[in-house]
Amino acid sequence: MTAFFEELSAWYNEDKMVCAKCKTENPDGLKFCNECGAAFSALCASCGFENAPTAKFCGQCGKALGAPAAALARKSDDRQ
Ligand SMILES: [Zn+2]
Ligand SMILES: [Zn+2]
Repeated sequence: MTAFFEELSAWYNEDKMVCAKCKTENPDGLKFCNECGAAFSALCASCGFENAPTAKFCGQCGKALGAPAAALARKSDDRQ
């Protein structure tokens, strides 16, 4: 039993990221899944802090995450 958990944690501690979307193993350090392109982390547009992909707010500066670059770009292009 213990050996199983040790093995499991050893596997998780290896330098790889498992995509939450497609379960593909990717090398650690990637920002996006090699297989499906899902983001592994949510970069804060304000301070650049790398948050978990599920984070709603930046853990560093508290700014709301999830505003896509397109939305930000549209803001500066605010003429009607
Ligand atoms: Zn994936
Ligand atoms: Zn931030």
